Amino acid sequence: MPIIYEPVGMAKEYSPYAANLYIGCSHCCRYCYAPHTLQRTESAYFGIPAPRKDVLQYLEQDLQKRPYLKQILLSFIGDVYCKSTDDSATTRSALQLLHAYNAPVAVLSKGGEKMLRDLDVFTQFGDHMMVGTTLTFLSGQKSKHWEPGASLPEERLSTLAALHAAGIKTFASFEPVVEPGESLKLIEKTLQEDSVDHYKIGKLNNYRGLDRNMDWQTFLRDALTLLRPAGKQIYIKKCLRDLAPGVALTSDEIDPERWTVRIAGIGNI
Ligand code: SF4
Repeated sequence: MPIIYEPVGMAKEYSPYAANLYIGCSHCCRYCYAPHTLQRTESAYFGIPAPRKDVLQYLEQDLQKRPYLKQILLSFIGDVYCKSTDDSATTRSALQLLHAYNAPVAVLSKGGEKMLRDLDVFTQFGDHMMVGTTLTFLSGQKSKHWEPGASLPEERLSTLAALHAAGIKTFASFEPVVEPGESLKLIEKTLQEDSVDHYKIGKLNNYRGLDRNMDWQTFLRDALTLLRPAGKQIYIKKCLRDLAPGVALTSDEIDPERWTVRIAGIGNI
């Protein structure tokens, strides 16, 4: 059973490759697409997941078959640092395995401080590792409403700062953008703290019509006004670009692989 796969569609904008270690998630985000994607009920998906059966064995088989020179994201389905039956021990083992096979990796999680347990492993990857979190609300109350099981914004921000201070390349995913004003405040906060290297900006997609009445063009302009002078690495997702046709973007800002981590100079696998 292959564990590493090539995402398609909107997911491809996040990473050339991905691997899902757990199927299920304790964060219970209201906007979560995973139950729909997996055709599961919310009650079957939300909860405390176990690692996929023999996932490490299958992961190693994938890594033995060929080198991976482009980024593998942990993960699209689930969160490798949510509550799990093995307390994310599989995440640590998977990272060690990926490092042993010299694969470049990005980790995206709303797990907060729990991520720092594996700081020693992140560090071993050097330039081939990027660690990030999704930032949605600066307000703890709003975050608790929308993402009840996830770490609070303050903890996510302090975790990013700790990772950055430890020399890890950090990224922040602004997707979904439920309230543009909250996202802009978070961008400002991360700029003040200089804790994020790379920003991925999207929008809210197809959530109960909420996204239809938002002024995405103004949001994108405001976000770029903050980020560009700071010299940050920026990627603007296609769903947002499509609704902001009046905003001119650079080729770097629309290239999904421009800021991913990779093994340089030895092919393009
Ligand atoms: S963290 Fe991701 S997978 Fe988990 S509930 Fe939230 S959106 Fe779904």
